[in-house]
Amino acid sequence: MSNSQPRDAFISPRFSQPPTFMRLPHRTDLTGVDVALVGIPFDSGTSYRPGTRLGPREIRSQSSLIRPYNHFQQVAPFDRLNVVDAGDVDASPVSLDIAHAAIDQHVRGVVAAGAMPLAIGGDHSISLPVLRALAGKHGPLGLVQFDAHIDTWDEDFGSKLFHGSSFYYAVTEGLVDPRRFVQVGIRGPLYGPGDFAFHRDRGIAVMDIDEVFRLGLDGVLARIRTVIGAGPVYVTFDIDAVDPAYAPGTGTPEVGGLSSHDAQVLVRGLAGLQIVGGDIVEVSPPFDGPGQITSLLAANLLFELVCVLARGR
Ligand code: MN
Ligand code: MN
Repeated sequence: MSNSQPRDAFISPRFSQPPTFMRLPHRTDLTGVDVALVGIPFDSGTSYRPGTRLGPREIRSQSSLIRPYNHFQQVAPFDRLNVVDAGDVDASPVSLDIAHAAIDQHVRGVVAAGAMPLAIGGDHSISLPVLRALAGKHGPLGLVQFDAHIDTWDEDFGSKLFHGSSFYYAVTEGLVDPRRFVQVGIRGPLYGPGDFAFHRDRGIAVMDIDEVFRLGLDGVLARIRTVIGAGPVYVTFDIDAVDPAYAPGTGTPEVGGLSSHDAQVLVRGLAGLQIVGGDIVEVSPPFDGPGQITSLLAANLLFELVCVLARGR
């Protein structure tokens, strides 16, 4: 059986047809599928500006332009992998607990079908149920987190779960091995030096934005490789890792971040890691700039990640 392919742009104009990721087929039967794009339109874990529930739709729309060959990674990913758009999780907008249970169950179904999930958020709280589903198959995972924020706080507004606590619980629930966990791009004002106590206690590696620019992108990638080593790893990309000059459409923007190109090079540089799943989160279309530039960037970063997976074949 031949792989799914994006609709041919020489026959079908890019702006036509209901939008799926890169105009791949929408399929819910994942038999024979290698990689499933899964939209998670959920933002009820958000603490500041909302709107990421609208992320999956706009990222799909903006992905229509992306052509299927990656010159920089020298790969035609859809020739090597069967990739489909598996649609969205129906996630409750009024109950975080119900939504997270639905996400967990949905992703377990994807994994049981033999496909690798790439989630399109949604706020960063969605990574936790995705990790629960994946750790159910693979055991404790390595984790590469691109983010302005640590997301290892343990509660907010009296709620244990929100978009800033995902990785506290991912570690304390044993889903992520903290010695194989690295954060990249951390910046912005914090509550105090105690915000890093959890990292010190558990041995979590942090590369704040000054260290990123001091090491350079090759140095950052070398450090990621050292921390992650061999074994299954999850990649989570919070779009606010990128400077709001490039990615304004997000809920908790922090100035002084990565450029779009830095982000592309960092994702490309993950080739060789044993990636078992990933996500891109925190894109909030209502706060985006002209041209939907944040969703466009998110779509392109997902494409880079798909190409990284294809090179592993
Ligand atoms: Mn985050
Ligand atoms: Mn963030």
